[in-house]
Amino acid sequence: MAEHEDFRRTLVHGEAALKQIKRCEVPAFPRHYELWYTYSAGFDQKLNTAINEILRSRGKVTLEETTYLYDTFLSPFRLGDKLDQFGSNFSDQIETMLGSIDQSMEVNEDYSTTLSELSSELGAAKNAGAVKNVVHQLVKATAVVRASHKEMEDKLKESQSQVAELKDNLEAARFENLTDELTGLGNRRLFDQTMSRKVQASSGIGTTFCLIMLDIDHFKQFNDTWGHQTGDQVLRLVGMTIKNTISAPDIAARYGGEEFAVILPDTTLDEAIMQADLIREAIKDRKLLKRSTGEKLGNVTVSAGVARYEQDDTAVTLIERADAALYSAKRAGRNCVMSEKGDFDEDRMVS
Ligand code: GH3
Ligand code: MG
Ligand code: MG
Repeated sequence: MAEHEDFRRTLVHGEAALKQIKRCEVPAFPRHYELWYTYSAGFDQKLNTAINEILRSRGKVTLEETTYLYDTFLSPFRLGDKLDQFGSNFSDQIETMLGSIDQSMEVNEDYSTTLSELSSELGAAKNAGAVKNVVHQLVKATAVVRASHKEMEDKLKESQSQVAELKDNLEAARFENLTDELTGLGNRRLFDQTMSRKVQASSGIGTTFCLIMLDIDHFKQFNDTWGHQTGDQVLRLVGMTIKNTISAPDIAARYGGEEFAVILPDTTLDEAIMQADLIREAIKDRKLLKRSTGEKLGNVTVSAGVARYEQDDTAVTLIERADAALYSAKRAGRNCVMSEKGDFDEDRMVS
């Protein structure tokens, strides 16, 4: 169902993107398609404003403008482009450092030649005047070396701070690459990476972890009633509520569409069920308001399925069990938590 909805929705944006490419007569490169798709989906308000201005004044976006818009609005968010940029900045820094070292070595060699020349001159010096002259030249040569060392030290310090800044930027890009744009939670990539790390760490050594899969109830109906953009706001709110309900080291991610997942390290199944129910309660209690009009939208609820990692589980088998439990929660009437061992009974948990 969700796949079919995605298919219809994304096709509309895809067709609109191709139409614009044809109208503007620019090559249908994937980057240009991405630009117009982003425009059609309205993911980036600033990009849409920039394109609308061009369209208003000239009716078409030229190839130069398309490249400029891509570089300005989309390229900075691509990890590959960022890595290219970091790579080139890093090699610039390394070149600068090597240049300084070369220069300094040359100065040192000159100094050493000067020293041996002055040493012979000193040996041959016949009077105080000649000795004074040698000392004078020695002082001058030493000053040159000292200045060169100081220059190298400054350049190295400068490079060091630039490299530290690059490292921070790289860290930030890595973080973005693992973050879901809409909700700010981890994305599917982060989820997959964390799951395989946890499975690897847990196999054979007796530690365990739990997985909660959550799915918004009747979300299609919500979108149909209030529109897709309001639906997106709700996804954001649900994401934020999950984030605020859990605490480290638990990790929340958007699994896809209106589905979320929480990985809970070193947690028993009962604790994970309790955590899932806290999330369910917190979401149910949020009163939804349409941001633009203040209109009351009622509430949304989520259903959850919980499973615990067992020896010999793979990420796939564990997700399957949590999904099966989620499916039972849906069948049981939604807005509830089910685990692989059955339904959630709060009284039994507390006693
Ligand atoms: P159920 O209680 O059985 O989960 O019903 P449902 O309507 O939530 O499930 P279904 O799988 O039929 O539909 C999922 C809906 O989620 C359809 C789709 O429009 C919506 N959806 C998926 N991703 C997004 C998104 O990024 N934004 C918005 N606004 N809606 C989304
Ligand atoms: Mg779903
Ligand atoms: Mg749903």
